[in-house]
Amino acid sequence: MTAKKRVRIERLREALREEKRRLWQELRAETFRDQEALHAQFEIPRDIGEQSILDVLSDTGLAVADIVRERVTRLEDAEHKLLEGTYGLCEDCGAEIEEKRLIAVPYAVRCVRCQERFEGPAHPPEKSL
Ligand SMILES: [Zn+2]
Repeated sequence: MTAKKRVRIERLREALREEKRRLWQELRAETFRDQEALHAQFEIPRDIGEQSILDVLSDTGLAVADIVRERVTRLEDAEHKLLEGTYGLCEDCGAEIEEKRLIAVPYAVRCVRCQERFEGPAHPPEKSL
């Protein structure tokens, strides 16, 4: 592994860690936003762990639970890939995804070009008359 690559991986690892921290913070805030009601209903302990937050959110049936679960899963996938050394490689073309993009969107699994192709043209051409 080249030094440059090691630096890239280290920075990406940091970005993932940061994203995960932010995600759990958001979750905690979400879980305790309506603390009174949730507390009475689910008896949430104050020193609730990460997995328990997920469980509690699932129990509440809040739509946010599904969104968050998906994000946690994707984040875990990303961390797994980082360990395997495949993180940051485009799933479609195999090219390295720009570091800037990964730091902004740690869940990104495609390079910008493939993502655009995947999503289709942002501005479909006018139909010719
Ligand atoms: Zn690509």
